[in-house]
Amino acid sequence: MENHSTGSSNDLHTASASSTMNREESHLPGVNGQNASRIVEADNRGKPVIVVHDLQKTYMLGQTKVRALRGVSLEISEGEFVAVRGPSGSGKSTFMNIIGCLDRPTRGEYWLSGKVVSRMPIEELARVRNRKIGFVFQGFNLLGRATALSNVEMPMIYAGLSRDMRLRRARQALKLVGLGSRMDHKPSQLSGGQQQRVAIARSLVNSPSLLLADEPTGNLDSRTSVEIMAILQALNQQGLTIVLVTHEPDIAEYTTRQVMFRDGRLIRDEPVRQPRDAQAEWLQLAAQNPDDNL
Ligand code: ADP
Repeated sequence: MENHSTGSSNDLHTASASSTMNREESHLPGVNGQNASRIVEADNRGKPVIVVHDLQKTYMLGQTKVRALRGVSLEISEGEFVAVRGPSGSGKSTFMNIIGCLDRPTRGEYWLSGKVVSRMPIEELARVRNRKIGFVFQGFNLLGRATALSNVEMPMIYAGLSRDMRLRRARQALKLVGLGSRMDHKPSQLSGGQQQRVAIARSLVNSPSLLLADEPTGNLDSRTSVEIMAILQALNQQGLTIVLVTHEPDIAEYTTRQVMFRDGRLIRDEPVRQPRDAQAEWLQLAAQNPDDNL
């Protein structure tokens, strides 16, 4: 299995973070250049991660055909940060399910990192999904009775890693998202933002080629949303490819490209000329409210 050896260049690692991180929860990855993590080889940048051609999905609802995707073609390269937008029912979830290898198209092709996955048997698709894709959801989807550490360990159990390796990587990932001091906390003992950080840590531990985030800030207040976007931006700046579904135009402004769906079609695809800098905004908020536990 790839990327499972100790010390691989894809391995999660935090660089000189601990010396300056007295209150880890107050720091975000990449702040002051600390806590840098290289999780994707830089020389892969620009290579296509996702190529979809004439993607179609038709659901049968009783006798009725629902054409959720009507021929979507798109290419997303390594290192891009893409916001998927569009009204309810426009096909966003169907698209994300297919690129997340949770479902297969009715017609059309999907290449993930150069490999055709659109016609893979379901079991093989599940293996690709576990190895190559990290997921972050609106509702965090953490196991309520498990600690942050155990939650982050979970995908590595399915990937067959040894316990030592699992714990080492889970701790690294939690430190990376600034939760080094909260590893033994259960979700109910964490704020919404902290829970989402645990979920982000969990999504990273198998060194995915692609992070899919479905409304990751949908359950969070605007300040916490900035915090989560700062983490995602930092990860993206380190080379991670991210595709994020959002209803909120503000959130899309932190990405580098926006694609818009309507009625199962891609109707717009444009770069974000000047993405907002979530880390700068978050630091500004922290400076304005020094007593808040940001
Ligand atoms: P969005 O995520 O943009 O809200 P969806 O991809 O969920 O859009 O839905 C696109 C269309 O497909 C909608 O008309 C929806 O009702 C329909 N649809 C989605 N999933 C199913 C399903 N499992 N069975 C039947 N119809 C579905």
